[in-house]
Amino acid sequence: DETLVKVQGLQKHFPVRSGLFGRVTAQVRAVDGVDFEIHRGETLGLVGESGSGKSTTGRAVLRLIEPSAGSVHFDGVDILSLDSGALRRTRARMQMIFQDPYSSLDPQATVADSVGEPLRVHRGLRGRARDDAVVELLETVGLQARHLRRFPYEFSGGQRQRICIARALAPSPDLLVCDEPVSALDVSIQAQVINLLEDIQQEFGIALLFISHDLAVVRHISDRIAVMYLGRIVEIGEAEQVYTQPRHPYTEALLSAIPVPDPVVQRRRDRIVLDGDIPSPLAPPPGCRFHTRCPYAMDVCREVDPPMIPMAGGGVACHLHDRGPRLHGRSVLEIE
Ligand code: SF4
Ligand code: MG
Repeated sequence: DETLVKVQGLQKHFPVRSGLFGRVTAQVRAVDGVDFEIHRGETLGLVGESGSGKSTTGRAVLRLIEPSAGSVHFDGVDILSLDSGALRRTRARMQMIFQDPYSSLDPQATVADSVGEPLRVHRGLRGRARDDAVVELLETVGLQARHLRRFPYEFSGGQRQRICIARALAPSPDLLVCDEPVSALDVSIQAQVINLLEDIQQEFGIALLFISHDLAVVRHISDRIAVMYLGRIVEIGEAEQVYTQPRHPYTEALLSAIPVPDPVVQRRRDRIVLDGDIPSPLAPPPGCRFHTRCPYAMDVCREVDPPMIPMAGGGVACHLHDRGPRLHGRSVLEIE
């Protein structure tokens, strides 16, 4: 089976409490019905503005948070059904890289200890054998044996992220969830860390869920890209298709926000500007959630929530792509 991760109907609602008795008065619908798969050794990019629910989705895949509804299967196992012991063993195979390499390393622990701990826990390595394995991991991520006894404060941001990657690789995972792994780093070293992740993905055949607000960053590393908006995936497809022939107006809008000149997308550059902020996930707009900002919005969009329409290599949730009797007006071709 090529499927490593299968997410179905995933929801995560956070209660909002208010008043003297802390009653639940509302629900933040951070993730509100998400389906996707990650194949073995594949990189799936997950893109969207902040507040779209992508980090929550990434954490739910590892069950670092408990979903409100839906299921997550990892290598055929329903991880939401696992008890804590079984979850701990399974989680060794699914590791996470966080945005902030400063806060995700223990400032009191040497590199040998941070990277060595999972080697002790999962592979039973101690002493010299553990240090040798740590050095091997350090070399994999572009650091050296001389870094073994150093502390996090002695490293740059990029080097700390390399240490985090080495630690994540220690249990030989099948999946790495990378949540904005380069957003906190200097622009000059972002590409190095992305290239490192790509090399690792190829060398070890690890699947990546690569979360970013930046479609240009995701494009280069991803096989497929899923675009999230207000707790839903609105488009999913092969990376090149999503980047050069986006099917969803929101994807088009994200592309037109990319500042780097790119002849392929230039054609669309000036066409869509997002008005206003992303609406509150406390009360997503009815119908299509994007209709309040969509330049193509039709009457149907204000009332009917568009289903995900399967298309070559993925799908799109937008009434412009509705098939069958065209009760709702225009098709994309007419808009072009
Ligand atoms: Fe725009 Fe309507 Fe498509 Fe939503 S369904 S993205 S409002 S055209
Ligand atoms: Mg986030």
